[in-house]
Amino acid sequence: MSTYLISVAIPVYNEAKQIYENINIIHKILTENNINHEFILVDDGSRDNTWKELKRLSSDLPNVFAFKFSRNFGKEAALCAALEAVNGDACVVMDSDLQHPPEIIPQMVRLWKEEGYDVVEAVKSSRGKESIINKIGAHFFYSILKNLSGFNLDGASDFKLLDAKVVNSWNTMQERNTFFRGMSAWLGYKRTTIPFEVVDRKEGKSKWSTLKLFKLAITAITSFTSLPLQLVTLMGMLFLFGSFILGIYTLYMKFKGMAVSGFTTVILLLLIIGSTLMISLGIIGTYIAKIFDEVKFRPRFIVSEKAISEKIEHKNIS
Ligand code: UDP
Ligand code: MG
Repeated sequence: MSTYLISVAIPVYNEAKQIYENINIIHKILTENNINHEFILVDDGSRDNTWKELKRLSSDLPNVFAFKFSRNFGKEAALCAALEAVNGDACVVMDSDLQHPPEIIPQMVRLWKEEGYDVVEAVKSSRGKESIINKIGAHFFYSILKNLSGFNLDGASDFKLLDAKVVNSWNTMQERNTFFRGMSAWLGYKRTTIPFEVVDRKEGKSKWSTLKLFKLAITAITSFTSLPLQLVTLMGMLFLFGSFILGIYTLYMKFKGMAVSGFTTVILLLLIIGSTLMISLGIIGTYIAKIFDEVKFRPRFIVSEKAISEKIEHKNIS
C-alpha cells in the first residue's frame, strides 16, 4: 500500500439503490492499485435509504467517514463539507453514480505523485446523455462565463484530484454560495487535465433540474464578475446618446412646423425604456440578493448524524 493517503470525497443524494455497490467498486479499484485511501461520504439529506446504506458501508469497509445533513443543502454544500473533512495527502472529488469513471483515479494519482501536479482535472470529452436544452444551456453559459470572467470551463467537471494544500486554500474561502468547478480554477496552482467520457447513469435520474442548473449558473456568474453591473451603465450611456439624437430631431421638426403625431414612437420608446429599466433592476437585484445571502453568514450546512469505520481516526466537522 502507498505511504500517502487519498481521501475520496463524494456527495450522495437519494442513491440508496446503487451507493453500496458503487463505493465497493471504487474501493476495489483503488485497493488493486495499492492506493491507500479513505472515503468521505456526505448524505445530502436523502429521503430514501441512502443513510442506512452509508452506515452499512461504514461497518463493512475499514475506511469510511460518513455524515448526514439535516436536510438537502445541495451538491455544492456537500462538496464544501466533504472538503472540510479531508485528512489525506490529496483528495479526489467525484460523483456517487459512477458517471465519473473510477478507473482513471490511478492515473490522476500518478500525475499528482510523480509529475508534481497539484490539481488534476478530469475534463469531459463527451457530455453523455443529456437533454438538448441542458446541452445548449451549458454551451451558452460557459461562453458567457468565459467572456465575462476569462475562465474557460467548457468540458469542466466536478471530478478532480486536489493536493492537500489546494484543499486548505479552498477551505479558506468562506462564501455561502459556492461554484466548485469555477472557484477551484480561480485558486490556481499547477494543474493538468485528463479527458474522460461521461458514462450513462446505471440507476435513477439526474437530480439536476433545468431550474437548479439555471440557479447554479447565476451563482457562478455573480461570484466571478460584476461586469453585468457595468453593462447596465453602458446601456444607460447608449440610451443617453440615442435620446440626444432623437431630441435634436424632434426639436428640429417642431421649429420647422412639421411636428407629427408621433404616437408609435412614444409607445415604442416607453416599451424599450421600461423593459431595459426592469432588466437593469433585475441585474442589480440579483447582486443584492447575493450580498444578502452572504451577510447573513448562516452555516453552509448542518450535520445531523455521523458514521465512522472503527479504524478511522475521529474527525471533526462543523
Ligand atoms: N447530489 C447531491 N445533492 C443534490 C443533487 C445531487 O449531493 O442536491 C449528488 C448526487 O448524489 C451525485 C452528484 O451530486 O453524486 C451528481 O448528481 P447527478 O448525478 O444527479 O448530476 P449529473 O450527473 O446529472 O450532473
Ligand atoms: Mg450523475
